Amino acid sequence: MAGKEAIEVPYIFGEMLYLIRSRFVRLLSGSPQHFSLEHRVFNLFAIIGILLSLTSILCNYLLHLNVFMMVVPLLFSAMIGWVYYLSRVKGRLRIPAAFCVVGMLFFAPAVWMANGGSMGGAQYFLLVFCIIVAILYSGRTRTAILILYFAVIIGLFAFEYWHPEMIKLYDSRADRYLDVMFGFNLSALAIALLFIVLADSYRSEHERVKQYSQHLEEIATTDGQTGLLNHRFAFTRLEEEIAKARRYERKLSIIMLDIDHFKILNDTQGHQYGDYVLTQIADILKNSIRTTDSIGRYGGEEFLIICPETGLAEVYLLGNRLRTLVERESFRREMKVTISGGVAELHNDTAVQLVEKADRCLYTAKHMGRNRIGM
Ligand code: GH3
Ligand code: MG
Ligand code: MG
Repeated sequence: MAGKEAIEVPYIFGEMLYLIRSRFVRLLSGSPQHFSLEHRVFNLFAIIGILLSLTSILCNYLLHLNVFMMVVPLLFSAMIGWVYYLSRVKGRLRIPAAFCVVGMLFFAPAVWMANGGSMGGAQYFLLVFCIIVAILYSGRTRTAILILYFAVIIGLFAFEYWHPEMIKLYDSRADRYLDVMFGFNLSALAIALLFIVLADSYRSEHERVKQYSQHLEEIATTDGQTGLLNHRFAFTRLEEEIAKARRYERKLSIIMLDIDHFKILNDTQGHQYGDYVLTQIADILKNSIRTTDSIGRYGGEEFLIICPETGLAEVYLLGNRLRTLVERESFRREMKVTISGGVAELHNDTAVQLVEKADRCLYTAKHMGRNRIGM
C-alpha cells in the first residue's frame, strides 16, 4: 500500500497542476471541444496582445515618456480587446485574424522605429507573430503572409543599416534594458502559452481518438448481447493461441458448450426469457474461467472456451464444473436449464479441425442424453 501511494502522490500532484494550468489556459483560449486549435491559438494571441499593450503603458510611464505614448497603447489594447471579444465570445476567426495580420504590418515597423530598432524588443514580437501566422493559416495564404513578414523584417534591418539616424534610440542604458526585458519576457510567455495550448489540444484530441478506437475495437470484437467475444474474433483468438502453443510447445485445449433443448425453452417460455437465460449462462461461464482463458459466443446458444496451458483431463474437469454450475443455477420462474459440452486438446490440428473435434464430442454428449461433457 505504501509503495502504491509513493507512486500515486506525485502523479496526483502532476494531474492537479495540469488541471489548474489547463483550466486557466482553457478559460482564456476556449476549450478544445468548442474551438479549433487555430482558434484557441488566436484567442491566446489576443490576450497576449492586450498584455503587451498594458505593459507598454507601464513601461512608457516608467520611462517618463509623454502622455501620447500611453494613450496609443491604451487605444491599441481596446482594439485588441474588441478583436478578442469577436473571437472568443462571438466565435469569429477569419476577420479578427486578418485584422491582426494587417495591424501587425503597421505595428511592428512603428515599434521598431520608435523603440531602438534592432537594439529594442520589436524583433521578439515579430518572431512570435511568425509562429502564430504559421499555426493560424495554411497553404498559400500562410506562405504569402510569411514572405510578406520576412520582407518587412529584412526591410527594417536594411532601413536601420542605411538610415540609423531615423531610429529613435533610448535615452539611457536603463531605458533600453527595461524595454528589452519586457519585450523578451512577454514574447517568451507568448511562446510558452502557445505550446501549452498545442499540448493541451493534442492531449485532448489524443484522448478522444483513444476512447473512440477502444469503442470501435469493442464493437468489432464483442457480442453485444452477452459481452463475450464474437464468433469471428473468438476464432481469431483461437488461431493466435494455437500459434503461441506451437511456438512455446505448450498444451492448449478447448471446450464447446451448447444449451440443451433451448428451442423448447424458447417455444414454451418465450424468446425474451430465452435471451435472459442465454445472458445468465454467458455470465456464469465468463466469471468461472481463468483470466488467461478466452470465451466467445460461437453460435446462437453455443460457446467456445479456449484454455491455454491446459490438457484434456483438466479441460474435461473444467467443462464439468461449468456444467454443474449451470445445472445448479436458479433461473427466474424456477426453470432448470442444462448444458452439454465437448472437449478437445491440440495436437497437429488446425483451428477448424480442433473445433470439429470438440464438436464431435459435443454431439456424442447430446446423443448420450445431454447435461454431460463428451471427451
Ligand atoms: P439441443 O439440446 O440439441 O442443443 O437442442 P436445441 O433446441 O438447443 O438446439 P437447436 O440448435 O436446434 O436450437 C437452438 C435454438 O437456440 C434455436 C434458436 O431459436 C435459439 N437461439 C439462438 N440464438 C438465440 C438468441 O439469441 N436468443 C434466443 N432466445 N434464442 C436463440
Ligand atoms: Mg442447444
Ligand atoms: Mg445449438
